[in-house]
Amino acid sequence: MIRFDYHRPEEIEAALQDAVGERTAYLAGGTNLVDLLKENVARPTRIVDINRLPLRGIAETEDGGLRLGALATNSETAYDERVQRRYPLLSSAILAGASPQLRNAATNGGNLNQRTRCYYFYDVATPCNKREPGQGCGAIGGVNRIHAILGASPSCIATHPSDMCVALAALKAEVRVMGPGGERVIPFADYHRLPGDEPERDSTLRPGELVTAIDLPPEDFSAHHTYLKLRDRLSYAFALVSVAAALRIDGGRIAEARIALGGVAHKPWRREDAEEVLRGSTADAAAFERAADLLLDGAQGQGQNDFKIPLARKAILRALAQAAAGTPQSQTDKRIA
Ligand code: SF4
Repeated sequence: MIRFDYHRPEEIEAALQDAVGERTAYLAGGTNLVDLLKENVARPTRIVDINRLPLRGIAETEDGGLRLGALATNSETAYDERVQRRYPLLSSAILAGASPQLRNAATNGGNLNQRTRCYYFYDVATPCNKREPGQGCGAIGGVNRIHAILGASPSCIATHPSDMCVALAALKAEVRVMGPGGERVIPFADYHRLPGDEPERDSTLRPGELVTAIDLPPEDFSAHHTYLKLRDRLSYAFALVSVAAALRIDGGRIAEARIALGGVAHKPWRREDAEEVLRGSTADAAAFERAADLLLDGAQGQGQNDFKIPLARKAILRALAQAAAGTPQSQTDKRIA
């Protein structure tokens, strides 16, 4: 049995004061943390339950964007009328993930901070540098069909499991955090990190920091977007490859482009040069091929996941074509437009 202290503060300041010590975990929806506790992967000595903090709700921001509360659930966010109308890319990505029951409990902040679904990470009888630094990586040379093809390191080849985060990366969201040093705003591209030689660190959060909100900028790409998720079955499965594509098209040319990949790296995978190469181009197959070349530059399979490289290329081309045509992939009834 793991013994831990349990705190349930009502205010953010009290939560930050409670969250002392290296082995403190914040508890929100619990859809990942409780699994990790049951599997003996997470062994906190203190749990700070943040469910009573005033971090729910979705509100307009002064610049014309939306602020998503860290404790708003994934369902509340995906079905919010403003998110559905103005940020359908985000709504679609959220609805592509998990199951209705899980989305009803899982929170926005928790979605960002969920851990990889690498099999070895959850099996404490096997080596894993992310769970226990210095142990080695069971997936390298092991069962690695779901693992990374981009940005991996000799220490870890895990992928980030979120769908929501892929859309947030494409939308250039910002993450608001509070910590002992005050408030910080982290550009989404800088929130998650590649494994390097510290795979135990998934994000750039500092000790004790708490995600309070996610800000969506005004540009919503509601006219030209798609979230394409390819997986082993049509629901309740993590992405083998996913693509969030968002375009602004003026006068037949691409004025702005965003594209992020999921299921391929330790963080949502974006390349500024792949977006730059699309700007000013006509929305055609040749331009999409150039973007795919850049996005997949340096892609490296691990044996069992080599198939992801051609799969990702095809997914990028299809997602961009769908976005350009204004025929987004439906994630609610799994239609292919
Ligand atoms: Fe652990 Fe990462 Fe290796 Fe998986 S890929 S076993 S999470 S070190």
